[in-house]
Amino acid sequence: MTILESDSAGLLAAVQAVLERKGLVSTFEVHQQIAITDAANPGQGARMVARAWLDPDYRSLLLEDGTAAAEALGIRMRGMPPLGVLENTAGVHHLVVCTLCSCYPRAVLGYPPFWYKSAGYRARAIRDPRELLASEWKTVIPDTVKLRVVDSTADYRWMVLPRRPAGTEDWDEARLSAIVRAGDMIGVTVPEVG
Ligand code: FE
Repeated sequence: MTILESDSAGLLAAVQAVLERKGLVSTFEVHQQIAITDAANPGQGARMVARAWLDPDYRSLLLEDGTAAAEALGIRMRGMPPLGVLENTAGVHHLVVCTLCSCYPRAVLGYPPFWYKSAGYRARAIRDPRELLASEWKTVIPDTVKLRVVDSTADYRWMVLPRRPAGTEDWDEARLSAIVRAGDMIGVTVPEVG
């Protein structure tokens, strides 16, 4: 059996045919959505973070309604699950995981890295997140900082608004967004000034 003849490919084709026959989703829309998903990348989330660091009004919008904040920067969110954004502060650090499978804020970060989908990450993020971050990413969260782990699901996706690093006070948006990595927006790392 080839990949194209597999059960899952057959199921996908059957579901797509039914949706099309009922007039719910056209083949064009399916391909359009695939193209949008393929084009998404962490640079989009990084732009949102940098804007929030510079613009208090945008930061409020981002924390209140991540979907609206993404759309405000021209990022297509139609057909995507709602996006929630969690702010890291001096007192709390957030870590995002999908305990069930691999739900990830793809619209703003692109495809998830391989480790995000691994059983090891998903289990350890829950069992001992502090140890996970320290041993795998050298990200040490002091005991005085609360570590909050959030479950990303098919219905709701989470992204982290990291803390702006010291030494970036006079930086503009482009320079700020260049230091924000996907891991910073999942909470496995924190932005660093290179
Ligand atoms: Fe999932």
